[in-house]
Amino acid sequence: MAETKYIFVTGGVVSSLGKGIISASIGKLLQARGYNITIQKFDPYINIDPGTLNPYEHGECYVTVDGMETDLDLGHYERFTGIQTTKANSMTTGRIYKAVIDKERRGDYLGKTIQVVPHITDEIKRNIKLLGQKYHYDFVITEIGGTIGDIESAPFMEAIRQMKWELGKRAINIHLTYVPYLKAAGELKTKPTQHSVKELQSIGIQPDILVLRTEKNLNDAIRKKVAAFCNVDFDCVVQSEDLPSIYEVPVNMQNQRLDEAILRKVGEPIGKTPTLGPWKEFIERRKHAKEIINIGLVGKYDLQDAYKSIRESLSHAGTYNDHKVNISFINSEAITEANVADKLAGQDGIMICPGFGQRGIEGKVIAAHYTRTHDIPTFGICLGMQMMVVEFARNVLGYADANSREMDEKTSHNVIDIMEEQKNISNMGGTMRLGAYECVLKQGSRVFDIYKKENIQERHRHRYEFNNEYQAEFEKHGMKCVGKNPESDLVEIVEIPSLKWYIGTQYHPEYQSTVLKPHPLFVDFVKTTIANKKK
Ligand code: GLN
Repeated sequence: MAETKYIFVTGGVVSSLGKGIISASIGKLLQARGYNITIQKFDPYINIDPGTLNPYEHGECYVTVDGMETDLDLGHYERFTGIQTTKANSMTTGRIYKAVIDKERRGDYLGKTIQVVPHITDEIKRNIKLLGQKYHYDFVITEIGGTIGDIESAPFMEAIRQMKWELGKRAINIHLTYVPYLKAAGELKTKPTQHSVKELQSIGIQPDILVLRTEKNLNDAIRKKVAAFCNVDFDCVVQSEDLPSIYEVPVNMQNQRLDEAILRKVGEPIGKTPTLGPWKEFIERRKHAKEIINIGLVGKYDLQDAYKSIRESLSHAGTYNDHKVNISFINSEAITEANVADKLAGQDGIMICPGFGQRGIEGKVIAAHYTRTHDIPTFGICLGMQMMVVEFARNVLGYADANSREMDEKTSHNVIDIMEEQKNISNMGGTMRLGAYECVLKQGSRVFDIYKKENIQERHRHRYEFNNEYQAEFEKHGMKCVGKNPESDLVEIVEIPSLKWYIGTQYHPEYQSTVLKPHPLFVDFVKTTIANKKK
């Protein structure tokens, strides 16, 4: 295929319709047809990236291999397509404006007045096209955050209008809307969709394809009505009903020939329908997994999206172990010595979650103590690993005030400490240890057995590290440092080999688990937890 084609995914009526899942599904379907694709997300907020955002505002922050802190939708893109995203796959209004303002200061605009149109819209278009040209993609799928009509997204919509005009068939818009079911009237209502499309048309964008989100099946009469009112071909009106799993969405979209509609619109030949073999096997296996394993997430954010990638990784691992993983959130702020047994009761395995700041850390330490002393399979990630280390230092090494420097600046036993190069950093945004780093695993360790290789690469997002001055003492008492960065010698993994599964990773393995390549650590953790339960 010669020239890159552009698919813009927008949303209307309400937010949270699952534009990310639809974009990832489209990517998956085109990829299955042999196209070289990528998916990017444009977020209309002013933040440079979501790195400084509270998870309550924004859900999890997903980290790319090249160290960009991004929107959690990039996690869906990777989990669906298995293709790694990079900095260029994530853009915000803040970054667009910053680039334009920096150019203005350099004098690049040669004395012109800088305006939203054309300067901001040109910068948006440049970023969309750059991605396609740089890596020779057949398709660039661009998801626009927010809902049509938002003040913030107006420049992005204008950029789409221009690109559609300039590129003709090479640029299409797929608009996602909602068809509510009114119980009292017993009817599905298309009016919000009609209004949403009118709103798009009023700014000069004619959607090519409509995906209607619905809780109930839409009959052909409703689809015909929407097609007629919105100037969209009947076979380009697709419905996306609520399904038991997000991973069924690509199959549902393929059954309705969404991929064929896209190819027709951009003028590509429509070949054979791909079988999606391994993907369908995954879904089948998932449906047949009836036995349940209970995993408790010890963290401080009582919000599904805050630990999105961890939840998905556990769920992938469950499927590959023919089990359903039932995840319960356990608020670490509410865990005390007195109630820890009650709080963790009924859990077959415990995840100690990542996080920042003091709130809820003592609960994590208490949970780690309980699971270590009761030999309950435990997996700690980042702050979770750090709290496993702190607990061990306090209760095994006997350093009552042991802590991370992040939580207690004056501790005399700083078993987790700030990295030297982090000490003088005053800017909070984008300055942590971010992205993929090498790690060498110790032969003979549990993790070496799990990964089955010595050299791995995993993604990071933290400022603090295991303090190597204590390594010998930890090892002597049974907590081993089994993975290290070969250049900096920083500890990446700790494990207690005498326990069933007690492993903490300084990095975030959850960013790398995909549907077709579940992460080995999660798979093994769930496997051990199941075996332990059955004993
Ligand atoms: N707050 C810890 C640090 O900065 C852990 C970060 C995390 O859990 N991602 O090192």
